[in-house]
Amino acid sequence: MIKYLIEGLLNLIFPLECRVCKHPIRESAGYSICEDCLKDIQLIEEPYCKKCNKPLSIAPGLPYQQDDLICLDCKNREYSFEYSRSVGKYRGVLKECIHLLKYNKEKNLAQPLGELLIRYLLFQQELLKLIDIIIPVPLHEKDWKERGFNQSFLLCKIMGDYFTLPVKEKVLVKNRFTLSQVGLSRKDREKNVFQAFSVTQPEEIKDKGILLFDDVFTTGSTVEECAKELKRAGANKVFVLTLARGI
Ligand SMILES: [Zn+2]
Ligand SMILES: [Zn+2]
Repeated sequence: MIKYLIEGLLNLIFPLECRVCKHPIRESAGYSICEDCLKDIQLIEEPYCKKCNKPLSIAPGLPYQQDDLICLDCKNREYSFEYSRSVGKYRGVLKECIHLLKYNKEKNLAQPLGELLIRYLLFQQELLKLIDIIIPVPLHEKDWKERGFNQSFLLCKIMGDYFTLPVKEKVLVKNRFTLSQVGLSRKDREKNVFQAFSVTQPEEIKDKGILLFDDVFTTGSTVEECAKELKRAGANKVFVLTLARGI
């Protein structure tokens, strides 16, 4: 009660504005993004590729079985992970939120984004049953020092706390500094992250079901490289989850 009174008073004196639309937020619950903006996030909806979650267009009225759908990219590709899922499209509000968290270091955006992930996972009960541990895609030490935190780890912690799943931050490490993947072709992305990751504690993942988490899935090169190492080190199955998917 007192907490809300204090927050109400503080909002009167220093009105909190939404980081995305800049409108004042009345009830913040500590968030710096308003309800309207959160509702504007474009979710990934059926039909989509069962492997990489890419949204597919199917002529209206044409019947389809979601479980049979696979995109052209995935038809010719082998993955080390079982499948990848993303909450929303990497554009608009979601893209802006990820940028603010990552580059503007606005850590308080982790909570509403983490809750978005929780809400998503609550509808993925079959997947949840297969998960023993959550592993965030790691940052290289250089990036970590510059940012001061790994945004993926923050989001994993929120999911892990909610679902009582352990989050292992040190199991998978990035041992080579890589250029930003932004603007690179698929081939160059694959080359860029090739052998950039390694598993330091294989005993932690042996025969385990792993939820590998990254903020954005673009071509899948980064998560594939991580999943390959996790499998090589003895993981049973790797499932990928990202907040956003490049379209
Ligand atoms: Zn807003
Ligand atoms: Zn696909």
